[in-house]
Amino acid sequence: MKRPFLTLEQAERICQRYPTPFHLYDERGIRGAARGLNEAFAWNPGFREYFAVKATPTPGILKLLKEEGCGVDCSSLTELMMAQRCGFSGHEIMFSSNETPAEEFRLADQLGAIINLDDLTHVDYLYQTLGHVPETICCRYNPGGVFSLGESEEGFQVMDNPGQAKYGMTREQLSQAFTRLKALGAKRFGLHAFLASNTLSNDYYPALARVLFELAVELSRQTGCQIAFINLSGGVGVPYRPDQPANDIAVIGEGVRRAYEEILVPAGMGEVAIYTELGRFLLAPYGHLVTRAIHEKHIYKEYIGVDASAANLMRPAIYGAYHHITVLGKEDAPCDHQYDVVGSLCENSDKFAIDRLLPKIDRGDLLVLHDTGAHGFSMGYNYNGKLRSAELLLRADGSVELMRRAETPEDYFATLVW
Ligand SMILES: *Cc1c(COP(=O)(O)O)cnc(C)c1O
Repeated sequence: MKRPFLTLEQAERICQRYPTPFHLYDERGIRGAARGLNEAFAWNPGFREYFAVKATPTPGILKLLKEEGCGVDCSSLTELMMAQRCGFSGHEIMFSSNETPAEEFRLADQLGAIINLDDLTHVDYLYQTLGHVPETICCRYNPGGVFSLGESEEGFQVMDNPGQAKYGMTREQLSQAFTRLKALGAKRFGLHAFLASNTLSNDYYPALARVLFELAVELSRQTGCQIAFINLSGGVGVPYRPDQPANDIAVIGEGVRRAYEEILVPAGMGEVAIYTELGRFLLAPYGHLVTRAIHEKHIYKEYIGVDASAANLMRPAIYGAYHHITVLGKEDAPCDHQYDVVGSLCENSDKFAIDRLLPKIDRGDLLVLHDTGAHGFSMGYNYNGKLRSAELLLRADGSVELMRRAETPEDYFATLVW
């Protein structure tokens, strides 16, 4: 059973200052997740989490994670600029992008970020752009084919298709990239791969780690390059549905440690640092999209119209993603009404829930959409001229801070030439 991290009374108090819809984040939950992750990998002295900025590109969140010892993983010019303004520098910044414009490589290099190359051709592109290659550099691997872990005890599967993904280099290209980078002056190398998204299995990271550890040993022998770190990237998931099992990050960290002891240590590579680039796992459960029911409609189905739309949370519209809904103040009421909960876009996919069993919803009720802390606000857009909402932080002491104000029509018109 999913419980929101705020009550109806708290929510109504917030609404007096900040009208719905808004995204609200839970400081306590975020810090707890970051600490759990850091503890799970404390066995590795060089460990660092590089929070995937694209999941929640909000300075208030990035600064909080910085206090917990995290770095940032950026993938664009503005994400790099935001990282810099939040006080991240040098190797606290990972730059994992693809189809990268030259100016982005230039800024990443100026900031001293670790650059993660997505393709073999980027080696010379980088060299031509910068006139040098950085001493520390990372390459992204794509093993192709299908990545599968079989079925977990709970019957959930991890399956993804690296062979259909645009990212990373082939095994052969990796050898070539390392050799070329070394010749151009690179000294410390990293390996990165992202093989499956939103995994619900404590086995994903350990299985990925085995692939990358074995590859690191091979590449080190083959090319003579010093492997300084392995970047396990993102992909550790969260249970969006109430019946799904949550990952246990302590078990995951221990699984990676075992692979490390079995593969890297005997190869004399016991100094290699482990990096992660989690976004969803650190943030998703600790964000709510709070919205008000403003209409009900009875035609061939029962509809509840809310003041948020896919412009605030796109995942249901584009992936059919499930986001749990709680009607505040009716947490324990029977779910004996079936609704489509919909936003106001002129787009029939603008449905937060279809045929969802919920308590009876009355106009004016406040609804919480769960697990919107990552890839929620950040995927928002302005279709139908909808304005982006505010982002608020619920502090551990119960106070609420504005991290981003809601857009105004002036913001929307600001780029227009009349
Ligand atoms: C999106 C992304 C992440 C974060 O993924 P999550 O599923 O949010 O953990 C990490 N690294 C890279 C390169 C990404 O593109």
